[in-house]
Amino acid sequence: MGRRDQPSAKRVLTIRMSEPSRVRMSARGALVTLLVLAGCAPRGVSRPADPALAAAIAQGPDTPALAVLISIDQLRADMPERLLPRFGKDGFRRFYEQGVVYESAAYAHSATETAVGHATLATGALPRDHGIVGNEWSERGARIYAVDDAASELLGASGVGKSPVRLLVDTVGDVLVSERPGALVRSVSEKERSAILLAGHKGVAYWLDDGAGTFVTSRYYADRLPTWVEEFGHKHPAESFRKRGWKLLAPEREYAAPDDHAWEARGGAVLGTVFPHAFGEVTGEQYLHAVKSTPFGDALTLDFVRALLASESLGKDRAADLLAVSFASTDYVGHAFGPESREAEDNLLQLDRVLAQLFELLDERVGKGRYFAILSGDHGACESPEWFLAQGRDAGRVDPSALRRTVEQGLRQRFDVGVELVSDFVNPALVLNEQRIAALSLDLAAVEQAAVELAKTVPGVHAAHARSDLLAQRGPDHPFKLRMEQSTHPERSGHVYVVPKEHWLLATRPEKLTAMHGTPWPYDAEVPIVVWGTGAKAQRVRRAVDPRDIAVTIAELLKLSRPKAATGQPLREALP
Ligand SMILES: [Zn+2]
Repeated sequence: MGRRDQPSAKRVLTIRMSEPSRVRMSARGALVTLLVLAGCAPRGVSRPADPALAAAIAQGPDTPALAVLISIDQLRADMPERLLPRFGKDGFRRFYEQGVVYESAAYAHSATETAVGHATLATGALPRDHGIVGNEWSERGARIYAVDDAASELLGASGVGKSPVRLLVDTVGDVLVSERPGALVRSVSEKERSAILLAGHKGVAYWLDDGAGTFVTSRYYADRLPTWVEEFGHKHPAESFRKRGWKLLAPEREYAAPDDHAWEARGGAVLGTVFPHAFGEVTGEQYLHAVKSTPFGDALTLDFVRALLASESLGKDRAADLLAVSFASTDYVGHAFGPESREAEDNLLQLDRVLAQLFELLDERVGKGRYFAILSGDHGACESPEWFLAQGRDAGRVDPSALRRTVEQGLRQRFDVGVELVSDFVNPALVLNEQRIAALSLDLAAVEQAAVELAKTVPGVHAAHARSDLLAQRGPDHPFKLRMEQSTHPERSGHVYVVPKEHWLLATRPEKLTAMHGTPWPYDAEVPIVVWGTGAKAQRVRRAVDPRDIAVTIAELLKLSRPKAATGQPLREALP
């Protein structure tokens, strides 16, 4: 019960007349050739119009064959900039030296999490419209994971099915497939939420499943796991990293960050806190999780992209396709060791090599001049609070269960009830038990406002806003209020939106989570946007832009309609 035809059914007719010379044919020449080819069908044989032919005619002759969107999970805007002199010339530097670099890019929403960021990158829309308000949320009393879908059984793994059914609007990939039947949209990530939201409703997503130890997909996309994906898995692609272990790429003296911070304990559970990191004896999901918390996670992602490009015909003809890749090890390393760690520094140096290999692969498989690539991130990150404290700066952790307890106890007193009125805390909001509040004949708005005031009394809380105020765009003003409003959905968002103070985390237990993101503070909201390969002149752009602009720009470059809910603007400096 695949949602539509097998995705790999690809155009019969290729129209690469000018290959391999890579000379761009003139518009007229192309059209003439297309018409000639179209007229070549045997007379009297009734056959359906070739979708690729129609697509190629629709898009015109000068459209790139492949759009590549690269999202690096937890890549704060300044991170690659700081390391530029130490990168090779063909990875990040290809973007930063040859591309259009937007120096002031920040998300316009406040819930700076992976699912939210990827949904925004793909749709050009705000969370209040695309509906992905968090990695998870509470809906009618139940916890919902952004891409869970029991009806879309996993192919190649066991566990809850996955699909994009909760994404409420179209992605740029959806528009591409609608307007150019036969166009391919493919996405790859270590995380299923990243792959699924980037692929949209009409693409195909592949992601790494910890249990399976390889890349998988779900029945939403196909009736069975494609043979090449199955074969990739049979080679146990993650096993080779065990022997190698994670060693520093460069000589030790070149690293700015110290190796052993007292607080970087989470990675230590399996990998230890100092180089070289060994995987020890762990197996199965524990091993895979450890692999993802090293640069090998991105290397594995690239291996899969290589297999994908060898097996499916992305960018092979002149009708445009879309490839989205989310590299997630930067996020796992950041959470485990902290963005301030030597591990994070080495991870980026190694990711630079992965990017260079990806460019090499695309040059070879798709062809120089036939694709463009956009680099961004789904959110930034904050160094761990313990790092700030070690430098004598204000920082800390707000324990979500303590926050919840304070609010709960205050509400019971205030409204003189003996039962719980707070039903959950789903980062970054407290969820009230609406049914119970109604049953007790209490006024929901009054309970919400009381909870807001109580939350503000908790040490480390910077601001708290009521959902009803955010939805109605009223209530006390605050510099982050617009971002909070733009993150708020009437059915999916919690009732009391909490923002921690600067450099404070809404998370406890450093042994589990060395560092975090998720707030509207600039360190979480600012990400790179660099556009390479469109023919635009290399330059640095200062004006404020927003990752919502990326989907709109891809639509513009591929001559498509903009995704309907998109509120971004084209990155005009990056247009040819
Ligand atoms: Zn993260």
